[in-house]
Amino acid sequence: MSFSQLGLSAPILKAIAAQGYQTPSPIQQQAIPAIMTGKDVLAAAQTGTGKTAGFSLPLLQRLSEGPKTSANCIRALILTPTRELAAQVEQNVREFCEFLPLKSAVVFGGVGINPQMKRLRSGVDVLIATPGRLLDLYQQNAVKFHQLEVLVLDEADRMLDMGFIHDIKRILKLLPSSRQSLLFSATFTPKVTALAESLTKDPIKLST
Ligand code: AMP
Repeated sequence: MSFSQLGLSAPILKAIAAQGYQTPSPIQQQAIPAIMTGKDVLAAAQTGTGKTAGFSLPLLQRLSEGPKTSANCIRALILTPTRELAAQVEQNVREFCEFLPLKSAVVFGGVGINPQMKRLRSGVDVLIATPGRLLDLYQQNAVKFHQLEVLVLDEADRMLDMGFIHDIKRILKLLPSSRQSLLFSATFTPKVTALAESLTKDPIKLST
């Protein structure tokens, strides 16, 4: 199995090659075609399995085929539990976007909000965010969700362990219901499963 057999476009294959990736990992082999169907996906995946590329690559392919992002809008939202993970995911996304006309940004708490507001002003295709700061930015009218096409909840089990359930529920109420939702979690405890049920419709379920 090669990346080119997964139906990814030339600019994405070029970025993958530039990263030195040669063959897709097991989770990538499953997640990339599943996400490309446009359906919701629940995936059991540990860190270090290549899950970030597993959700980012098909997401970027979808966005690269879509309309331009308007001012203060975002078309994909990746929620992560920590700022370290947010920064790491954004770095990966930025590398995968090297040959695509797509813009990414990362926002998290504990740093000034003004540069983040400025970055969002012209619209961002993929926003990687921690939940609390995203809600702050929404309250300040810095981010609008009506163009949102894809939601990713990364490390959902850690999000719940860290007490983000109320923030996540508030965010979900703000998002268009027509979106594609992807949930990645190392474990599927009853709480994660309950969250997954409230977030996804008729999902494809994956585990490696
Ligand atoms: P992740 O599980 O997404 O945090 O990825 C773990 C590490 O594996 C990261 O450093 C990725 O850059 C790398 N990686 C992901 N997919 C591949 C692949 N198919 N081939 C080689 N390295 C990869």
